[in-house]
Amino acid sequence: MLTRTIYLSLDPYQWGRRRSSLETAGEVCHGRTVSQVVESNMPAYREGDFVFNTNGWQAYGLTGEGISVFTYMFPRQIDPALAPISTAIGVLGMLGLTAYAGVYVQCAPKAGETVVVSAASGGVGQIVGQIAKLCGCRVVGIAGIPNKCAFVTAVLDFDACVSHKSPDLPEALAAACPDGIDAYFENVGGKVFEAVLPLLNPRSRISLCGLVSQYGNPSSDDPHEAWRNQGQSTFQRQNVEVHQLVVGNFVATHQDAFLADMADWVRDGRIKYKEDLWPGLRQAPTAFRAMLEGGNFGKTLVGVGED
Ligand code: NDP
Repeated sequence: MLTRTIYLSLDPYQWGRRRSSLETAGEVCHGRTVSQVVESNMPAYREGDFVFNTNGWQAYGLTGEGISVFTYMFPRQIDPALAPISTAIGVLGMLGLTAYAGVYVQCAPKAGETVVVSAASGGVGQIVGQIAKLCGCRVVGIAGIPNKCAFVTAVLDFDACVSHKSPDLPEALAAACPDGIDAYFENVGGKVFEAVLPLLNPRSRISLCGLVSQYGNPSSDDPHEAWRNQGQSTFQRQNVEVHQLVVGNFVATHQDAFLADMADWVRDGRIKYKEDLWPGLRQAPTAFRAMLEGGNFGKTLVGVGED
């Protein structure tokens, strides 16, 4: 089918594709999209339907086994009555599933435990913290500027949020976690991880989702290995469970349950979401850079037809 892109999702993994030479200059950049069907030879889709697919950074794309520019990945119908269609690349999409898999499946926090999440106001982080609140946990966010910290506590109802820009990050985080940390959702790495390490409780769990602080670092060949080396002695001493998170591994097993739960939570306001919409495909490179540098606020997406 031929589809017209409406929203393009910008995600930090796209930087990794560049870096690992999965993409070279002149090729279409990878990107998950919300699109509308223009013409279809696929029986499950009709003209006018809204779909989640992978058109990449382009205004139109072909979807179908063997004809998509990118690996044919989990296209699905979007029900516009369920929620705004943009949520299919956000809270009701891979991003929400990432949070759900990391918190529910991997960290499985119990009521009363302390859960910490980095990049707390971002696309994944904001959902992680709210799911942990639904589990009855004390939730502490780590974010950049004061506005983001204020949003995380005042709007999303986290118990506390500390700034990684503060020179007192280790002390501030320790004060916000008086009973230590039972589960940590890692989006960032670097000095944020350094501040988390001494606070990890025995048998705590970590979901290693991403290491965005390392994504522009040319000297870091394998950020994951460097991260594991940094944490190794603490992991052994405290018997910490580390779970690598790859959202694609949870689609077959957890997507249906996730969509049912999350649609309910969004509908009744138990999960809120903040999007950062950049109008016009031309803005994609600027928006992408801003996201990696913390210049975004919420889930970053591009309104493709909006220039
Ligand atoms: P975000 O919306 O969270 O944007 C990235 C955020 O990272 C920025 O807003 C900024 O927030 C923070 N950041 C950037 N540089 C630094 C730094 N040096 N130190 C501390 N914080 C920094 O992006 P997403 O929600 O899309 O992605 C979050 C993470 O999830 C990423 O690591 C990504 O790779 C990962 N991911 C992994 C998946 C998987 O399957 N494992 C799937 C989807 C996402 P602030 O201003 O608060 O510092």
